[in-house]
Amino acid sequence: MGFNAEDNAFIEWYPRGYGVGFKVKRRLFETQTQYQRLEIYETEGFGKLLVLDGTVQLVEVGEESYHEVLVHPVMLAHPKPSRVLVIGGGDGGTLREVLKHGEVERAVMVEIDEGVVEASYLYLDVAKDLLERLIKKEEPRAELIIGDGVKYLKETGERFDVIIVDSTDPVGPAKLLFSEDFYRDAYEKLNDPGLYITQAGSVYLFTSELIDAYRAMKKVFDRVYYFSFPVIGYASPWSFLVGVKGDVDFRKVDLERAKGLKLYYYDPERHETLFQMPKYVRELLESG
Ligand code: SAM
Repeated sequence: MGFNAEDNAFIEWYPRGYGVGFKVKRRLFETQTQYQRLEIYETEGFGKLLVLDGTVQLVEVGEESYHEVLVHPVMLAHPKPSRVLVIGGGDGGTLREVLKHGEVERAVMVEIDEGVVEASYLYLDVAKDLLERLIKKEEPRAELIIGDGVKYLKETGERFDVIIVDSTDPVGPAKLLFSEDFYRDAYEKLNDPGLYITQAGSVYLFTSELIDAYRAMKKVFDRVYYFSFPVIGYASPWSFLVGVKGDVDFRKVDLERAKGLKLYYYDPERHETLFQMPKYVRELLESG
């Protein structure tokens, strides 16, 4: 995987040789952080591209196709999401969407790699102003903690209405974010009612990881939902898993509150269309 200079292209190779790529003008920045290789490219048609360990994290043009569906369905399904935890999300896009909800009184973002926050602040136009306020500790409703989300969740005395895991794929530092133990810690640190969402990878190319995570979550949460969405830059459709604590029906969202949100990709009035899943994948998910 990686930058193919003669073709001026960055291609992420998925299993079985499935590639997702962008024509790029040049590489703007690269570094080896304490946790991962970080690269930023200038693409021809999608703005800047953030890459971690050779995997596409986001492109500036179209990143909302991921951040909106990761955030707003659970925020609109929860009756009063005032305390929110984001794990990962160092580019700031997820927290930016969370803070669009006036009900939020306190949001905590736990990102393991300070290098991602710094590079996103310096090079990306995803949530630059928010990242600056977080770095300067001037954001009244949110706090940035540089640390491991697994450790934080185990040790925190705080409780949250919504927990959002916006991590890299289940390898390296993110691996334990997809474990039953972690789901149990999350369940304990959720208020009642509470909602948990995680990105769960490519429907077609990470099917077994999706099924494993779904089955592990079903052992922990009162109800588990799955949905998928086409995400620009990822081997789509991309899957998401939602765990429920208490009495919340994730199939219903508050359309009154949705009216106050400027959305481009997630359509609350068609919330039910999120629950698309190819028949063979649905049957695999339900068979366990
Ligand atoms: N928001 C982007 C998108 O559009 O998909 C991608 C996700 S964000 C860049 C993924 C982040 O998860 C990375 O910055 C990575 O450092 C972070 N991460 C991975 N494992 C983590 C852990 N155990 N605790 C906290 N953050 C973690």
